Amino acid sequence: MIPFVDLKAQYLGIKSEVDAAIQRTLDNTSFILGPDVSAFEEEFAAYCGNKHGIGVNTGTSALHLAMLAAGIGPGDEVITVPFTFVATVAAVHYCGAKTVFVDIDPRTFTMDPTKLEAAITPRTKAIVPVHLYGQMADMDPIMEVARRHKLVVIEDAAQAHGAEYKGRRAGSIGDLACFSFYPGKNLGAYGEGGMVVTGNPEYTRTVRMLRDWGAEKKYQHVLKGFNFRLEGMQGAILRVKLKYLEKWTEARCAAATRYDQGLASSGVPTPAALAHNRHVYHVYAIRTQQRAAWQDALQAKGVSSGIHYPIPVHLLPAYADLGYTAGQFPHSERAANEVLSLPMFPELTVEQTDTVCGAVRAIAAASLQAAA
Ligand SMILES: *Cc1c(COP(=O)(O)O)cnc(C)c1O
Repeated sequence: MIPFVDLKAQYLGIKSEVDAAIQRTLDNTSFILGPDVSAFEEEFAAYCGNKHGIGVNTGTSALHLAMLAAGIGPGDEVITVPFTFVATVAAVHYCGAKTVFVDIDPRTFTMDPTKLEAAITPRTKAIVPVHLYGQMADMDPIMEVARRHKLVVIEDAAQAHGAEYKGRRAGSIGDLACFSFYPGKNLGAYGEGGMVVTGNPEYTRTVRMLRDWGAEKKYQHVLKGFNFRLEGMQGAILRVKLKYLEKWTEARCAAATRYDQGLASSGVPTPAALAHNRHVYHVYAIRTQQRAAWQDALQAKGVSSGIHYPIPVHLLPAYADLGYTAGQFPHSERAANEVLSLPMFPELTVEQTDTVCGAVRAIAAASLQAAA
């Protein structure tokens, strides 16, 4: 069986360094924040081409605190896309604000900037583009609209470590950016983790306080804060893994190219990476209108697959109170019905990608024949 991701293979490649980092944390007992977290914050912010990084316990907390630091609260509206992981929208809700959706560009699965203007109201405070699957949203027009309307831009970069847009890295264009280090992400901890990246010292100070009970000095709580701190052990492990991120990203891109080539002329729609983007392939999603059948057939041929994500957020029962109905975001709804993610991880071998392509081509040919 070809797995969907293979965290074990990655660990075995860096085992001695990771084990040493864990041992170092045990020896120095810096279990919460501490020197490795501080060093990782600097190293990761620099990797993103930005100044400040604030480590937090999850990507969701990064979004939540970035929004609070940007002043988002009750009565405000935040514009994002429905074709995302639910956390993007949950964070808006945690701030007491209301989510307003705009549809995606069906080629890239990211925010369609031409839809923004119509969604802006006097209550709009921020825009949250999601760099879905590892490809950055079309940031130039998004920033242009945001600046004209004095809105904050918060990048949801949870799937886009190292992604680039016109030579600029994810995390360096918006006012704030949020990353996740969930184990399956392109840079994954061995537990939970997240980070807010920003060039703004005021946002940095606020997020730093909010993640640690709203205090800069112990017991002097000036903000109503949270316990959202990054663990020392995760910081130590992530520092080791960050050194390999470029190499792993190149390996993902190489696997994606093999998929692109192996599926060319098969009639199966493959991901569109725009020329000015560096897509980092957190997810490699093809499209099919017979998804359930294809997923079963792939499974039968020894190929795991996934769906990111089967229900757009505006149609999730949890967010029914936002008042949206089916048909309002046709590109998101169609994508949610059709996307199918193939195995994607840096250690994918040529043999594995060949097997996957062979399986997909056979299934596609069989369904074409059935339709004829
Ligand atoms: C993973 C993810 C998050 C949340 O990150 P966690 O670390 O799991 O809390 C937010 N947004 C997107 C797009 C994600 O993929």
